[in-house]
Amino acid sequence: MSVKRAPTRLVLLGHPVRHSLSPVFQGAALRAAGIPLAYEALDVAPEALGEALALAATQGWAGNVTIPHKRAVFLACARHTDVATQACAVNTFWMEDGALWGDNTDVAGFDAAARALGARLVDSRIALLGAGGAAAAVCVAAGRWPGATVRLLARRPDEARRLASAFPHVTPVTDLSAALHGCTLLVNATPIGLHDDVTPCDVSGLSADAAVMDLVYRRGETALVRGARARGLLACDGSEMLLRQGALAFERWFGLVPSLDIMRAALHAAR
Ligand code: NAP
Repeated sequence: MSVKRAPTRLVLLGHPVRHSLSPVFQGAALRAAGIPLAYEALDVAPEALGEALALAATQGWAGNVTIPHKRAVFLACARHTDVATQACAVNTFWMEDGALWGDNTDVAGFDAAARALGARLVDSRIALLGAGGAAAAVCVAAGRWPGATVRLLARRPDEARRLASAFPHVTPVTDLSAALHGCTLLVNATPIGLHDDVTPCDVSGLSADAAVMDLVYRRGETALVRGARARGLLACDGSEMLLRQGALAFERWFGLVPSLDIMRAALHAAR
């Protein structure tokens, strides 16, 4: 029988992390469950990640991983769930049987958010911007939607080719018009729009039945989401995905299903 160690500390490893709303809703879930831990956002530069993970392993921390560390933590984990292996990216870790485990709850979080939005899943044609950990999670989720295909655009074409090569339903493209042409779902998996009103692309060329999912979230929503809504398109920012991936992570750490309502109320109060 495997022994999961109760976390001594719950952390978010990222760089930057100040924008993250995870401490708000994870804190609410912890209080509601009567767990005497805080959820701490730790700004860990890439050169300090190894040291943070060594502490996590020796001291029994658990937590989440965000930009830009998801692939690096995947490589550092001794054990992975199948879905983390498919994505080659880890957003959730914990100690079990003396080993650092990694999972990827972004995959199910993205899937749940797409369903909540009402986006077409079967036979969807997805334009995906970015080739990092979040984009990998989108590729894994879309691979479970019958007939779905992905056109992947990244600022470094070699990275788009690398990610696409792991998935038969994903094709790398090198220009935006090729990605957007005929798409039924646009997904922004870059950090563009996180800190300002810059958008990763113009939505005016999307067809009237296309949906837009921005994985970025910020107070007041992103310019991409506001622009898509102004055109009458179905659109959401990353807050529903954030909530869903966070609830699944909580289950991995504690073996408890947290209250999504309590987490959602805390998230909305903070936005
Ligand atoms: P990541 O692994 O660092 O990947 C980011 C991707 O975006 C890379 O392909 C990167 O290209 C590209 N990129 C970065 N800056 C760019 C720019 N100015 N122009 C064009 N491309 C750019 O990060 P990630 O973990 O995938 O996260 C990506 C975004 O999704 C973040 O904003 C994160 O907060 C969000 N996210 C949200 C959720 C949620 O639950 N809502 C979950 C996961 C991620 P290079 O490799 O060339 O740098």
